[in-house]
Amino acid sequence: MDALVDTRTPDPKKFIAGATQDWEMVIGMEVHAQVSSSSKLFSGASTEFGNEQNANVSLVDAAMPGMLPVINEECVSQAVRTGLGLKAQINNRSVFDRKNYFYPDLPQGYQISQFKDPIVGEGKIMIAVGPDKKGQFDEVEIGIERLHLEQDAGKSMHDQHPTMSFVDLNRSGVALMEIVSKPDIRSSDEAKAYVTKLRTILRYLGTCDGNMEQGSLRADVNVSVRTPGGEFGTRCEIKNVNSIRFIGQAIEYEARRQIGILEDGGTIDQETRLFDPSKGETRSMRSKEEAHDYRYFPDPDLLPLEFDDAYVEAIKANLPELPDDKRERLIKSGLSPYDASILVSEKSVADFYEEVAKGRDGKLAANWVINDLLGALNKAGQSIEETPVSADQLGAIVDLIKDGTISGKIAKDLFEIIWNEGGDPKEVVEARGMVQVTDLGAIESAVDEVIAANPDKVTAAKEKPQLVGWFVGQVMKATGGKANPQAVNEILRKKIENS
Ligand code: ADP
Ligand code: MG
Repeated sequence: MDALVDTRTPDPKKFIAGATQDWEMVIGMEVHAQVSSSSKLFSGASTEFGNEQNANVSLVDAAMPGMLPVINEECVSQAVRTGLGLKAQINNRSVFDRKNYFYPDLPQGYQISQFKDPIVGEGKIMIAVGPDKKGQFDEVEIGIERLHLEQDAGKSMHDQHPTMSFVDLNRSGVALMEIVSKPDIRSSDEAKAYVTKLRTILRYLGTCDGNMEQGSLRADVNVSVRTPGGEFGTRCEIKNVNSIRFIGQAIEYEARRQIGILEDGGTIDQETRLFDPSKGETRSMRSKEEAHDYRYFPDPDLLPLEFDDAYVEAIKANLPELPDDKRERLIKSGLSPYDASILVSEKSVADFYEEVAKGRDGKLAANWVINDLLGALNKAGQSIEETPVSADQLGAIVDLIKDGTISGKIAKDLFEIIWNEGGDPKEVVEARGMVQVTDLGAIESAVDEVIAANPDKVTAAKEKPQLVGWFVGQVMKATGGKANPQAVNEILRKKIENS
């Protein structure tokens, strides 16, 4: 790796106060993302998750003598697509190397990876941390060092038999993209935002499903601390952290552990550590002295991977709209930056919103998706994929508000009915008599009744016009929330003035 470069200006908001001085965290991530492809990187075996053990194993994956790897073009184009999504340098020539080590679940005795010449070089990701108490997001650019293709290993199982270990090779040979960041991250919140944003980009691109529970995305987290703006410190690498929450916890623990050692006059040993979620701690796995010498060398079974610019251009021409671009477009269409950020942060939410907003008032649609639908889903602990209210149904509710058939208040009741019972919003409104009363005569008589019943309040409201609000509430109550609030307001003001 090239010499480390510091691209950031130290930000006191992110410093950690120690006993003797302030400290600054420096974090770099190596994310392993499983490529979305139906077969493995060098064999035709399936990549389907959850199949019976060793069901997805070809002779190549089992490393039978004489078997030769054949590159899967789909994995190559997925890596290029990802590189383009990360605004990165695409290398038209890259080389596969053998990384030698022994592992019971690695039958070849080496992993095919890319070392000196990766398929993708430097790129960048914009992350937004926040919002803070003022609703502001802190936007930061994080550099990407490289992205390379490599094989995943199989899985050893030590808990299935009292005296034997089992090996499942289903994962062995599945394509991974290792995406390495520059050491540009300065807090656990930034680290979480980085992985979240990276996962969002991969999902928009369709190059990795980003499913951390199934292990499709996992992060090695490199952490060091230093005097703010000073020399880079010695780092520890926390291996294979498989949830965004754990990434944050591991970093917080690890940085404080290192600060404790340094403030006691000690030094940090460069080592590989593991995060234990049950204790919230990291513990040593191996020191750099024990680190493997992988004896990398170009794999003689594989030619260098070469393609021309036209190949890259064709992939570029078919890239989907990415989250940052979608956010810009939504802001231009009239949404607030805050709403746009929320809507684009998950591809499934963005797709849902666009479905609801199609041909409708975008702001109104955004309000209903964010405040009502996402609010209700959040409360129910459900994801947008599980929503009981479809985009069509929510769109129909928005239409009913927009054309004045129902008030915003009745719409909330209608939403709840559709959420619980389903149905066509328009039919429900008709069947249950929820249609807004715009008949001025009916509203007027409700207003007259409330005024007649509260003569003293009328006198008070003449002096203090804000008190009209109370009357509006009463009339709405009397009409079961169905009166058009604007009409109620106007009629009330006139009648109180003239009484
Ligand atoms: P290796 O492959 O041996 O783990 P690399 O030099 O490729 O080493 O770096 C791996 C990761 O560690 C990168 O994400 C990089 O940004 C990060 N990193 C390097 N130096 C530091 C440091 N001093 N503190 C925190 N992270 C670091
Ligand atoms: Mg590493």
